Amino acid sequence: MTRLIFLGPPGAGKGTQAAALVNLFLVPHISTGDILRTAVAEKTELGQKAETYMNAGELVPDDLMLGLIRERLNQEDAQSGWILDGFPRNVAQAEFLDYLLADIHQPYDFVVNLDVPDEVILARLQKRGRQDDNESVIRHRLDVYRSQTSPLIEFYRSRQKLISINGNQPMETVTSDLKQLVSI
Ligand code: AMP
Repeated sequence: MTRLIFLGPPGAGKGTQAAALVNLFLVPHISTGDILRTAVAEKTELGQKAETYMNAGELVPDDLMLGLIRERLNQEDAQSGWILDGFPRNVAQAEFLDYLLADIHQPYDFVVNLDVPDEVILARLQKRGRQDDNESVIRHRLDVYRSQTSPLIEFYRSRQKLISINGNQPMETVTSDLKQLVSI
């Protein structure tokens, strides 16, 4: 049973590394960004509410996100583990997740922090070309990361659950570092 939470700025490689590890652990990769992008593409009610925030590089409000994650973690395929990518993004979400996981008796094993310098992040995101990857939105997403998400590093460090990995290395090296550190 593997339950991991991936932290790190946009462009740190969370999605790529989570995708590499799900093949190893055979658990679902739960990316709240992917769930939201699908909702936007399908023009669901959630998608319509989320789209403006996403295009502006803002966090989608917690009242939408908390219900979304509770529903997703209650689905059948999540009962045998998961890799969470993109949630939590702020302290309120992290506190809600602690409460939720205690309630459903599914403690996480580790929180993986992918450490990548800002210049590298900017260069990577500029190449990616997603709708929310233009220069000013990228900068705003990094500001949002710094002010709202990065406090979670301390939040999880103080719970003795944090693993930090140098994400500024070739993809395969990051994956093998990760495999070693989370081999449980
Ligand atoms: P990501 O693919 O994780 O970079 O997410 C893309 C966008 O989706 C973010 O910039 C936010 O607008 C939104 N988003 C994804 N996850 C969350 C979350 N946990 N809380 C709020 N907004 C989120």
